[in-house]
Amino acid sequence: MQDIIMSRLRDKDTGTADFRANAQKMAHILAGQAIVYLKKKKIDVATPLAKTIGYMPGQDVVLVPILRAGLAFLPVFLYYFESSKVGFIGLKRDEKTAVAKEYYRNLPAIGKNDMVVILDPMLATGGSAVSAVKILLSAGVKQEQILSVFLVAAPEGYRKLRRQFPKIKIIIGTKDKKLTRDKFIWPGLGDFGDRYFGTKRRH
Ligand code: URA
Repeated sequence: MQDIIMSRLRDKDTGTADFRANAQKMAHILAGQAIVYLKKKKIDVATPLAKTIGYMPGQDVVLVPILRAGLAFLPVFLYYFESSKVGFIGLKRDEKTAVAKEYYRNLPAIGKNDMVVILDPMLATGGSAVSAVKILLSAGVKQEQILSVFLVAAPEGYRKLRRQFPKIKIIIGTKDKKLTRDKFIWPGLGDFGDRYFGTKRRH
């Protein structure tokens, strides 16, 4: 199923509405994987028939979409992590150098026991992801609290993030083959933000 959804996203002829619908489907799959990392607390539950053991969340969640593409995953993650706080980090990739520059930061108070989930569909060079993690660490978050969620990753970006921050958790929808010379993921799906938001198209 995931392969079918990913193929719709990769197809250059997939229009905006269809792209959005399939991005949401992938967000559900990725959120399902993210839930596994949430700490739980045991509680007593009374069913109509008996008392049994149940669970409730054992930690608060802070969702941090990386602007702008990360916003695409926010509604689905809010659906599953309905009480989470949301912080924003704005990183813009320079088209020529592919270096990420921060232009916006608005983070809530983050507790020592919180799970912090970075949302960013494309892990290309790893520049944005590394910057986002550094920003969170500078706000007092520990690597162990961070879960990064990506839809498509290039091996270069994955290696860079893993090497620099060995203790963060990483979820990836699919790992692609390589980066192109202009730092796009290959075969990839083009510019996720442009395709999701219906702005200019590349590739
Ligand atoms: N960002 C995208 O949206 N696509 C890529 O291929 C690389 C970075």
